[in-house]
Amino acid sequence: MKPILPGATLGVMGGGQLGRMFVHAAQRLGYFTAVLDPDPHSPAGRVSHHHVRTDYTDAQGLAQLAQLSAAITTEFENVPAQALEQLALSRTVAPGAACVAIAQDRIEEKAHFRACAALSGVDCAPYAVIRSAADCQGASAQLLPGILKTARLGYDGKGQWRVGTHEELAQAWAQSGQVPCVLEKMLPLVAECSVLLARGHDGQAVSYPAQRNVHVDGILAVTHAYPACMPAALVDRAERATRAIAQQIGYVGLLCVEFFVVQAPQGLELVVNEMAPRPHNSGHHTIDAFDHSQFDLQVRAMTGLPLPTPRQHSPAIMLNLLGDIWFDAQGRERSPDWAQLLALPGTHLHLYGKTQARRGRKMGHLTLTGPDLPAVQASARRCAELLGLPGLA
Ligand code: ATP
Ligand code: MG
Repeated sequence: MKPILPGATLGVMGGGQLGRMFVHAAQRLGYFTAVLDPDPHSPAGRVSHHHVRTDYTDAQGLAQLAQLSAAITTEFENVPAQALEQLALSRTVAPGAACVAIAQDRIEEKAHFRACAALSGVDCAPYAVIRSAADCQGASAQLLPGILKTARLGYDGKGQWRVGTHEELAQAWAQSGQVPCVLEKMLPLVAECSVLLARGHDGQAVSYPAQRNVHVDGILAVTHAYPACMPAALVDRAERATRAIAQQIGYVGLLCVEFFVVQAPQGLELVVNEMAPRPHNSGHHTIDAFDHSQFDLQVRAMTGLPLPTPRQHSPAIMLNLLGDIWFDAQGRERSPDWAQLLALPGTHLHLYGKTQARRGRKMGHLTLTGPDLPAVQASARRCAELLGLPGLA
């Protein structure tokens, strides 16, 4: 493919914070940008040269985005696959509709992980597909206690129920609205990590070392990114597995694969959890701690520009800023004391321009960098205290 050079316009489906950081990266390289998102106040729409304000399936909106853009990417996995197919009739779309469709559906996603297991060396958690009351009754007791997850449209722990018995499973499935689900065995997690990989149209792939993620209530809270954050052997295995998972489906673009670390009799073992066909919250530290961020590589991969191996120049800890910290103990809305946080060494504040704070809503993130790990950890601890999240970092 002939590279699409700066000066062209790049389009993105979705106007959330991931789209906003994509727009920033594309603009820095000299591209113009177009965002499709129905929300007039969307974080990416506000900073883009063009903002097409229609629904994701609106034929006119899609035609307008295609007309504006030389290549198009996505910032969320639930963009309708047909919309990407329509765009792909006339434009380069990366990642492609077929890859996004796999990530949209946990049943297909797990089937893909299983199919790759021999090549990737990593399997997913034991699971069963649940489509009927009979599937609930017939589910293997080996999968209990487990987590029932809706096949589609889950994020940040939404659409998930922890179940201990067949009865609870049946209740949870009824609560899901009897939609297709997977029942996954609950695993005793030692840790969680993720790998970000960028893969070009020519199949060349580069990746970042695995980072360790801490979730609270099913939402990412902290990412640790420095050499000792994970055992070296696991970092290697996670990286190889991610390459295989991307290669098997001819993935083009930026991909994130999430893993569980579990204790097996013979040592620590990796289990693949899920994949996101886009940049990921667990990769936000790459903006401040690497020479090329995940958004830079998203731009390069979709446009056919060279993909350099990203180099980390600082250890980093990322703290997610959820809407919860915009409320005081009495539930009154307030703004965190940014000046106090920014007085600490190595603090990089990223706010997404969302005007309405809500509990659990991702409002921004804070990346701590420094000359060495103790310095970064000290800043992270102090920031967590100031934000009212002691013990988090
Ligand atoms: P995301 O916001 O990453 O898309 P999600 O809502 O799709 O999240 P998962 O990644 O499936 O959900 O699960 C969210 C979190 O719940 C995981 O990061 C992990 O902490 C916990 N979890 C999920 N599945 C299991 C499991 N089988 N065993 C133990 N813990 C699990
Ligand atoms: Mg997840």
